[in-house]
Amino acid sequence: MEANKRVNIVGAGLAGSEAAFFLLKKGYEVHLYERRPAYNDHAHETALFGELVCSNSLKSYKLDNACGLLKEEMRIMGSIMMEAAEVSSVPAGAALSVDRELFAENITAKIKSFPNLVLHEEEVTELSDDPTIIATGPLTDGKLMDALLEVMGEKSLSFFDASAPIVKKDSIDFTKAYYKSRFDQDDAAYINCPFNRMEYERFVRELVGAERAMLHEFDTHYFESCLPVEVIASRGIETLRHGPLKPFGLGTEEHPKPYAVVQLRQDTKLGDCFNLVGFQTNLTYPEQKRVFQMIPGLENATFVRYGLMHRNSYIKSPVVLNEDLSLKAKPNIFIAGQLSGVEGYVESAAMGILAAINISRKLEGKEFIEVPKTTILGALTDYILHATGGYFQPMNANWALIPGARKENREPSIKNSLDSINSYWIRVND
Ligand SMILES: Cc1cc2nc3c(=O)[nH]c(=O)nc-3n(C[C@H](O)[C@H](O)[C@H](O)COP(=O)(O)OP(=O)(O)OC[C@H]3O[C@@H](n4cnc5c(N)ncnc54)[C@H](O)[C@@H]3O)c2cc1C
Repeated sequence: MEANKRVNIVGAGLAGSEAAFFLLKKGYEVHLYERRPAYNDHAHETALFGELVCSNSLKSYKLDNACGLLKEEMRIMGSIMMEAAEVSSVPAGAALSVDRELFAENITAKIKSFPNLVLHEEEVTELSDDPTIIATGPLTDGKLMDALLEVMGEKSLSFFDASAPIVKKDSIDFTKAYYKSRFDQDDAAYINCPFNRMEYERFVRELVGAERAMLHEFDTHYFESCLPVEVIASRGIETLRHGPLKPFGLGTEEHPKPYAVVQLRQDTKLGDCFNLVGFQTNLTYPEQKRVFQMIPGLENATFVRYGLMHRNSYIKSPVVLNEDLSLKAKPNIFIAGQLSGVEGYVESAAMGILAAINISRKLEGKEFIEVPKTTILGALTDYILHATGGYFQPMNANWALIPGARKENREPSIKNSLDSINSYWIRVND
């Protein structure tokens, strides 16, 4: 085997499996490192590759749904996840849901059938100098995490245990909400939703009593600086308005003395999505919709992403990654999957294909090709590489990432995306 036809992949999860499949088909000698089954991370339950750790849903298969379109883009690019989903799907309405076991078995068998695979059932604890894709997922920890920290600088790796929901700006009621920064310090960058006392107290009662999603044992150790909003609220009726819902400096002529204020911060470059500041949460999705729609101005809010709670390791991709997903500090190392700052099964898997395409082109001395931003994959990649603002949070597939995508008529954007991914794929295989 030629030296430049050998790649290490760390992690046989969704991203690692996609990357391995792409490279194995191209004849690469793939050294796949997987720490299961010896290591118990309390989320994975089997030794299978591509295991789905929680829900069995790969979300909508409809093309007017951003995740549905991403799956179609992946299918065009020969995704192993899409092949496995086809043979393991279960009835679930408009969602592509799978028999978890069948799905992972299919992926595992297919990858193991390649004679050019070398499987290492061991934990990787350091970064090699050889061409490597790191796809160790949101539960990346221990010595490998330390090694990443060392090459990127400590501040470059982020940890958080819950994410806050994101809503579409055009679904916010601006007869109630208004733009303002605290004490007019900066530009009026935040959207503010003011509560009167009665509304606030009713909201806190509902929040505290709302149903929470089931937690894994390792999730219950909250970071004090990143507590779920319902946990803060349960510490006393006044706690939130002295914390994330502090109203001081946020009054206006119309609302001179709001009792409490929810602030929303811009989340996308485009400015059409906003996250609820301080609203990291572990409520079930239906409860998030019910309770957060009690916030004045958010009664009809469209949720682009709900809050989610689990341990999550991801890198600050806008700072530490090159355009081809390689580390600026160690350009032979490529990052794929959830570790790269995307969120979700499908998104993580898609980043595995992309990292494999990019590393193979580099090893073959071919030019880097950018995935068109008119595709969901291209737009998502653009987001993780160029997100602005101080607090970079993982992102899932959504239409707001595609500039100019019109809500009333998705057809042109869908066609554009599929045409673009087809052309990209032809160029990749040229
Ligand atoms: C508890 C939990 C629940 C989730 N639920 C959902 C959900 O319902 N829906 C959804 O869309 N997303 C969910 N996610 C988010 C995310 O989409 C998944 O975690 C997804 O599996 C990420 O894919 P990945 O390939 O990046 O990582 P993973 O699929 O986690 O794969 C990483 C692999 O790397 C291996 N590994 C880690 N470190 C090492 C090492 N040092 N050496 C060797 N091998 C290593 C792991 O054993 C694992 O097999 C959840 C995440 C968690 C943690």
